[in-house]
Amino acid sequence: MRPNVLNPLFASVTAIQGVGPRLGKLFEKLAGPQVVDLLWHLPTGIIDRRFAPKVMEAPDGAICTFTLRIHGHEPSSNPRRPYKVVASDDSGFIALVFFRGHEDYIRRALPEGETRVVSGRVEHFAGKPQMTHPDYIGTLDELESLQAVEPIYPLTAGLAPKVVRKTIRAALARVPALPEWQDAALKARRGWPDFRDALNAAHAPESEAELQPATPPRMRLAYDELLANQLALSVIRARYRKQAGRPMKGDGRMRAALRRALPFQLTGAQARAIGEIEADINAPTRMLRLLQGDVGSGKTVVALFAMLGAIECGAQAALMAPTEILARQHHATIAPLAQRIGLTVALLTGREKGKARDAVLAQLADGSIHAIVGTHALFQEDVAFKDLGLAVIDEQHRFGVHQRLALAAKGRGVDVLVMTATPIPRTLALTAYGDMEVSRLDEKPPGRKPIATRAVPIERLDEVIDAVARAMGAGNKVYWVCPLVEESEVSDLAAATERHALLAERFGPRIGLVHGRMKGAEKDAVMERFAGAGDMMGRCDLLVATTVIEVGVDVPAATIMVIEHAERFGLAQMHQLRGRVGRGERPSTCLLLYQRQGMSEAAKARLNIMRETEDGFRIAEEDLRLRGAGELLGTRQSGLPEFRLANLEFHRELLAVAHDDSKLIMDRDPELNAERGKALRVLLYLFERDAAIKLLQSG
Ligand code: ADP
Ligand code: MG
Repeated sequence: MRPNVLNPLFASVTAIQGVGPRLGKLFEKLAGPQVVDLLWHLPTGIIDRRFAPKVMEAPDGAICTFTLRIHGHEPSSNPRRPYKVVASDDSGFIALVFFRGHEDYIRRALPEGETRVVSGRVEHFAGKPQMTHPDYIGTLDELESLQAVEPIYPLTAGLAPKVVRKTIRAALARVPALPEWQDAALKARRGWPDFRDALNAAHAPESEAELQPATPPRMRLAYDELLANQLALSVIRARYRKQAGRPMKGDGRMRAALRRALPFQLTGAQARAIGEIEADINAPTRMLRLLQGDVGSGKTVVALFAMLGAIECGAQAALMAPTEILARQHHATIAPLAQRIGLTVALLTGREKGKARDAVLAQLADGSIHAIVGTHALFQEDVAFKDLGLAVIDEQHRFGVHQRLALAAKGRGVDVLVMTATPIPRTLALTAYGDMEVSRLDEKPPGRKPIATRAVPIERLDEVIDAVARAMGAGNKVYWVCPLVEESEVSDLAAATERHALLAERFGPRIGLVHGRMKGAEKDAVMERFAGAGDMMGRCDLLVATTVIEVGVDVPAATIMVIEHAERFGLAQMHQLRGRVGRGERPSTCLLLYQRQGMSEAAKARLNIMRETEDGFRIAEEDLRLRGAGELLGTRQSGLPEFRLANLEFHRELLAVAHDDSKLIMDRDPELNAERGKALRVLLYLFERDAAIKLLQSG
């Protein structure tokens, strides 16, 4: 499927000479598992070896290249004392210093009486120049092979700069000549080089200026990546449009009944969103709309109104959630309301098995179930609807594009409503959703109390535990979220288990633990103990958790959120977590426990923003700004697309251009079959937008 020319780039990094399994692992950690990932690992600095002063004029701390005469070797018998080689040019002497050096090697590299080119950092001790472990030693003949300006790459522990440079050079050598996918006029106007030249140039900066995001090679590469992103979204979108939708104009009877059944008034934002969605559902084209609303803004009710719009017309509706807990919770909210209108809402997750599952499937197929709430289990092959008219997908960034499509494919002309609690800045919304229509819930239900947010150093853990004890005594429930350790579930779990053990000493059976490794039923049991008022026996008031509670869970009696090692969390994630409290009548608190030691400036900034504001959109903007400033933490967690070459702080303008460009492409050559279209297919593969290509192929 993938064009053969790209195969060398989609080989494992271990296909590169000199990279075995051990280095392979490190490169995978650094950039990714494939050769192509190395191409996207751009340098962030340079070492200029062209600076060649006289020894006596070399400034302290500078990288210098000297041509030196080698005088004498002073090996050391004491392993703690270094091996020294004395050398000079016509201005004076310099000591070349080696710790734990092999004498053989040093004598061969620096033979007495000969001349060598030596490059490295110069330091002065007692006024005398020396160079410890030169980066480069060679003969005058070899001077040419000395790369005058070396790129500096971001590293990971265990990988030496030299190895990284060499391996990336080898990766670059594998890049084939590729057909031009960019519009010739745009390319000429912007003065952009060809893709391969741009890549080579970006990896061989000659000056600091060439590291800047606005240089033509970097602009070109950023644009390639953004165009791949936008084009893939356009393909998906066009595919949706191609399939006829169906006008569903209900008589409003059920929706009126729901309005009467609700214990509250809809907010203005909810009413507006419901109106926008209804208009889409009524229209003959397929709906593809994003419902954006901060945690607690009341998306579920809006979804229910949308579902009724379809059900009133005799169609069925499905609501898909990313986790078992959330699916159950949505079901618990929706089913009783629906029942009062005389509707049947079923639940289908990985845990419904055997006869119960068969019964649900049968009723779904014969239409006696009006709506279904579930997880991924909904798009298993044997799940068939009598007539699916609307699919609502909650927290969609956890689902892939084709999963979204798979659910919509279970009906004819299915309308799709995607809900997300990630308040995405407009720029990013474009990268994640293309030009989906957007409805925003920018208003919270009335009566919400602000959440007092405080940052507390971890040294004050005892005080925090005391405060938690007092709050529990007064009938409050507490979440305690444990540190994110690296990106491994196992170590997350260890930290949570340890904290649970410590807190259990104090709180005994009133405490529970949930983590991602638990079976669905176990998780639910703990969540139910925590959510329910419960009797004194089985009840849980303090829930220790890994970030599995991040999305959706609604426990109004919870008023305290403790986030341990908050400095390790991204803003979006902390905001999501904090949104778990402040849902009831009582005032709520969020305590951000941090470890001062080693905390980065960006981490401090994140904690400050959390203390300053609860406005999800402002937090999202700040998040983007901080990440633009070089910190990637939080991108992966927020589920937004990660860009390797484009930096949205600098390349925002290009995103808009890519957006328009991709629309134009789809207008002119929707199947990507013309000459440029074919090249664009290569681009999509190159940036691993294979899902979009599959859609093209399926016609
Ligand atoms: P979201 O999914 O957007 O985070 P939910 O749909 O779970 O939010 O709603 C959060 C809580 O607010 C629920 O308990 C819900 O019943 C309640 N709620 C929703 N809309 C309103 C409203 N207009 N007025 C009062 N409470 C509301
Ligand atoms: Mg929700």
